[in-house]
Amino acid sequence: MQNFHISLADTSSTSASQCFISTDGVFNSRARILGGGTCINAGFYTRASSSYVKRVGWDPKLVNESYPWVEKQIVQKPNLAPWQKAVRDALLDVGVSPFNGFTFDHKYGTKVGGTIFEESGRRHTAAELLASANPQNIDVLIHATVQKLTFDTRGKRPKAVGVIFKDENGKQHEAFISKRSGSEIFVTSGAIGSPQLLLLSGIGPKEDLKKLEIPLVHHNKFVGEGMQDNPMNTIFVPVKNHVKQSLIQTVGITKKGVYIEASSGFGQGRDSIQCHHALGYLCFGLSKTYNFWMNEQIGQLSTIPPKQRTKEAIEAYKDTKKDLPFEAFKGGFILEKIAVPKSKGQLKLIDTNVENNPAVTFNYFSHPRDLESCVEGIRIIESLVKSSDFISNTGFDVESTEKLLNMSVKANINLIPKQTNDTNSLEQFCKDTVITIWHYHGGCHVGRVVDPNYRVLGVDRLRVVDGSTFTISPGTNPQATVMMLGRYVGVKILRERLGKEANVV
Ligand SMILES: Cc1cc2nc3c(=O)[nH]c(=O)nc-3n(C[C@H](O)[C@H](O)[C@H](O)COP(=O)(O)OP(=O)(O)OC[C@H]3O[C@@H](n4cnc5c(N)ncnc54)[C@H](O)[C@@H]3O)c2cc1C
Repeated sequence: MQNFHISLADTSSTSASQCFISTDGVFNSRARILGGGTCINAGFYTRASSSYVKRVGWDPKLVNESYPWVEKQIVQKPNLAPWQKAVRDALLDVGVSPFNGFTFDHKYGTKVGGTIFEESGRRHTAAELLASANPQNIDVLIHATVQKLTFDTRGKRPKAVGVIFKDENGKQHEAFISKRSGSEIFVTSGAIGSPQLLLLSGIGPKEDLKKLEIPLVHHNKFVGEGMQDNPMNTIFVPVKNHVKQSLIQTVGITKKGVYIEASSGFGQGRDSIQCHHALGYLCFGLSKTYNFWMNEQIGQLSTIPPKQRTKEAIEAYKDTKKDLPFEAFKGGFILEKIAVPKSKGQLKLIDTNVENNPAVTFNYFSHPRDLESCVEGIRIIESLVKSSDFISNTGFDVESTEKLLNMSVKANINLIPKQTNDTNSLEQFCKDTVITIWHYHGGCHVGRVVDPNYRVLGVDRLRVVDGSTFTISPGTNPQATVMMLGRYVGVKILRERLGKEANVV
């Protein structure tokens, strides 16, 4: 069958996500489920700007056809929660204007974006987009973890021929693509998974592969390079009034390279998405593992010297922090994230087991511009919480800024050793309290690892299409653009194969 596709996803039987800690000392999360990050994320949906589309060289017409294809299937207009309204009004009060209303479009000022959650809390995910496929032509295998790609290396250029994957019982299988022209493998394992899989399959820096005795298929020193994460810093704002739960709905898009967003309230249990996100991005995906982190009593772990922060030490520490009171966190978070970070890092394999995380370094704030933007962001939050609109909408007792900053430092939400001046110096505060907004990207950059059509350089029949290919961050929250890109590349390929008149709906 010419259009027969097998789609593999490594849905884990125990958790939809896997925690990883970057070598910087920041906790992070990887989705391990069909639908990827859309199954564990905060749901905020917003398109990249038209200048971004121009900059990366996408066809704007096809981009503008591809975003709505996603939106009509899984995106809604949110019902604005009180905390989000308060932040919206306060943003306008402090000059992050104009108000652009509800829109998917990226515009300077304050706006309300889309969401993949229904009002009832039901989440839509990218997995639902599979409903648009012809069921005769697609097979989806879940609990199928790809170990490596296989190649025919007899010709001039290596040719991808298949994948080796393990099922839920640990049994190994090999799947081959058809020999027919046009058959290809698409790797869409995300910004950690895709560079990891290329490296495990022998595409990467030859010296690194040699150390792990991985047979070389194609030398490319850029695989795993240019890893970036948008640093996030949050300020917890305690208020006396009851605060309804909310995930991100409002965003302030400033011209200073920093975006302001917010979340609030608690879920009914430690496993709820509200708990994980509204509670300040201090815990990690839907994994139960790091719930302990969201309590301000947590502190001492970052006093453990980095080399002693073994998995066992962290687990033991976590066990002592399981039953911390939720009441300590009555209020909401206002967060700022760097839109387009300039700091860069890399990803390196630690071993040859695909189930183990590679070593990922983001080098947060190593570029001075990122630090300047962070300081700008904290200053905006400081004035926002003091604005009359915010105070009257939330019942917030104006606390000294230092007290607010202190609470964030004490929450100790990363493994970065703290300095004594981190509330006096906003630069130090940014460095010491950095966390992730999970918008990490890079590792298989266009032009370095893949060509502009997402074909892996130096080999045939292989493409990578996901956030690992982003050379620069879309600036705004990325899920819209990652899903759009999947549709965009698919339609482009179909049109090339079947002609412009291909009936693509
Ligand atoms: C907790 C969290 C909150 C977020 N909040 C938001 C938000 O509110 N708004 C927003 O726009 N973005 C948000 N994001 C970011 C967004 O979800 C990601 O940018 C996006 O999902 C990245 O898409 P991707 O396809 O590149 O990778 P992923 O979504 O990570 O998908 C990778 C897929 O590959 C699979 N995979 C990996 N390795 C293998 C293997 N070896 N074999 C088989 N399958 C494999 C995984 O199971 C997964 O399904 C959030 C992310 C997280 C984690």
